[in-house]
Amino acid sequence: MDDQQVWDIGMIRLEGLLSDLSAGTRFALTQQLTRYRKAKEALAAVVENIAAASLCRECGGQCCLNGKYRVNVFDALAHVTIQIPVTADFFQKPLCPYGAAAGCTMEPGMRPADCILFLCDGIDQKLSLQDRLILAEQEQDVRECIQEASSLMGESLGTPLLLWAEKNSNTSKLKVQRQI
Ligand code: SF4
Ligand code: SF4
Repeated sequence: MDDQQVWDIGMIRLEGLLSDLSAGTRFALTQQLTRYRKAKEALAAVVENIAAASLCRECGGQCCLNGKYRVNVFDALAHVTIQIPVTADFFQKPLCPYGAAAGCTMEPGMRPADCILFLCDGIDQKLSLQDRLILAEQEQDVRECIQEASSLMGESLGTPLLLWAEKNSNTSKLKVQRQI
């Protein structure tokens, strides 16, 4: 099975999980997803404020290579709940499957936590003490959201989507419906 097929199985499983939730659990999950998105937006804003865009342009996106495991189950769930699918092309190696020539295809609040939390040396050197305090606080929020949502769903949502889907693919009775 190739990455695209595993990805498709993961998406179908997520839709199944969501449809099985009670209204109360669904509401609690939505609250965690909103908090998760806001925390990531706040993290991205700190980095943007230190003029990271010019640094990233010069660098050419070195941190956006080979990123197929960056999207975790909770990240994918965030996209499924708002019905905006992640654009994934697993054949454009070494470019990240979720990126394009112009950069990441996702807006900051919808990007994987792994990407938003990553700070390269160039960015790290530009951070003030105040920036670091905000980043630490928001990072804690991101991690708590994943943990609390995992308890709600009974699934390890911090696991990369591809690994989670692959682990379950042998026993899955769901059929992959590729849209190609
Ligand atoms: S975050 Fe750092 S490694 Fe990534 S593109 Fe920007 S400068 Fe390059
Ligand atoms: S998901 Fe987006 S930000 Fe993360 S590595 Fe891929 S292109 Fe870069």
